[in-house]
Amino acid sequence: MEKVLAMGFSFVVFVIGLAFLITGRIALGLLLFAVSLFLVFLAFRKKETMIIEQKIDIGGEINSRILKCKNCGAELNKEAMEVKLGAVFIACPYCSSQYQLEEEPKW
Ligand SMILES: [Zn+2]
Repeated sequence: MEKVLAMGFSFVVFVIGLAFLITGRIALGLLLFAVSLFLVFLAFRKKETMIIEQKIDIGGEINSRILKCKNCGAELNKEAMEVKLGAVFIACPYCSSQYQLEEEPKW
């Protein structure tokens, strides 16, 4: 919609410039031609700058998450985790409890 308005306005400026040319004021007419061309240029340039940049942040989330022992609540590091048969097992070094890690949907 803005593009159509800019095109319409630039056309009006162009016609006014043409009128100045016909009445002998060439310098003013050429100036208005230049303005109308500039408006058209702006109208098309605006379209290009409307490209939306998409930022997708992947990575770092899995390694930086903090695991907590469900028995004593202590923070667990990677060494407390063990992958067996596709499941993650936890061996807490603080309370010595061992259990299989339940899948959480936020991962
Ligand atoms: Zn524990």
